[in-house]
Amino acid sequence: MTSRKPLGRYRRVVIKIGSALLVDRKAGLKKAWLDAMCADISGLKARGIDVLVVSSGAIALGRSVLDLPSGALKLEESQAAAAVGQIALARAWSESLSHGEIVAGQILLTLGDTEERRRYLNARATINQLLKIGAVPIINENDTVATSEIRYGDNDRLAARVATMTGADLLILLSDIDGLYTAPPHLDPNATFLETISEITPEIEAMAGGAASELSRGGMRTKIDAGKIATASGCAMIIASGKTDSPLSAIESGARSSWFAPSGTPVTARKTWIAGQLQPAGELHVDDGAVTALGAGKSLLPAGVRSVTGLFSRGDTVAIIGPAGREIARGLVSYDAEDARRIAGRKSAEIEAILGYPGRAAMVHRDDMVMTAQVGSKSERQKKDASYA
Ligand code: GLU
Repeated sequence: MTSRKPLGRYRRVVIKIGSALLVDRKAGLKKAWLDAMCADISGLKARGIDVLVVSSGAIALGRSVLDLPSGALKLEESQAAAAVGQIALARAWSESLSHGEIVAGQILLTLGDTEERRRYLNARATINQLLKIGAVPIINENDTVATSEIRYGDNDRLAARVATMTGADLLILLSDIDGLYTAPPHLDPNATFLETISEITPEIEAMAGGAASELSRGGMRTKIDAGKIATASGCAMIIASGKTDSPLSAIESGARSSWFAPSGTPVTARKTWIAGQLQPAGELHVDDGAVTALGAGKSLLPAGVRSVTGLFSRGDTVAIIGPAGREIARGLVSYDAEDARRIAGRKSAEIEAILGYPGRAAMVHRDDMVMTAQVGSKSERQKKDASYA
């Protein structure tokens, strides 16, 4: 059973469009599809909804313009293809949106623009200004300068980051996959479709295979990662197929799609930024007692830390990993890596004697921390949410 998913109750929607929807390997840009999509966008805007687009397709379009042979491209080849393709892509969006008298603004982001707080705030200000004047930001990764170590590489997570950055309440991932199945449907005849995902549990994460086609980098894995970033910040997410024309209208009339509910805990803007960091500088491995304490909204004390990995400075973002090896939280650490190692497993009262100065009692204070996985039973969490309200 699928149900209608009216989009009118959302205020700000980020739509991520996969390369395969926009670009045909032989024929190039799919102009009719793009025109229909822009008509849908114009419909949303007419209902007072802010729309942001994260559009893939620069590399695919560049390939088609340059008539490059199929197969893997070297980094510099794909960067050159992106340079050629991005111009064509932006022009196509701008032209199609102009039919509905909508102005497009191009934003090209690199990982550093969202990971570094000052650049993040700058990018956010520009995007917000575009929305304020009624324009539709057309966003992509700046593939021409991003190298493998410092790039997103997939627009699913980039789109989730854009959604949290701009306080969007809905992220729609359109690709050639119509949603989440319990197993890859082309491999497993018993795979069943999941229409509503109320929480991204380890079981849900395990369902995400690594499938990706030549044209799209992101498979289900990056979509679930995107879901974790978005839902943790109170943004709902829909995965739907964009293979038909007008997929937004199709979602509204009940086309099959998977809907991920936003987490019920509202977080501050700063916490949103912490949660969405893609590259924590280190890891704090904690014991069961610490997992329970964090689940109850407490700070992480050195006593609960079993080991510390990575090179980080005080104030950097670290991932907090439970005994099962799963990340449960992220936060800004109160100590440099070396000092964190020295006080790991020790009581807070011992800190001064060990380090020679009185540091903070918490390794990661609760105000600087955000849970990235659900810990404890649902009823305990509801109690906790209620106590914070
Ligand atoms: N940024 C890439 C492009 O525009 C696409 C990345 C992706 O498909 O997720 O070609």
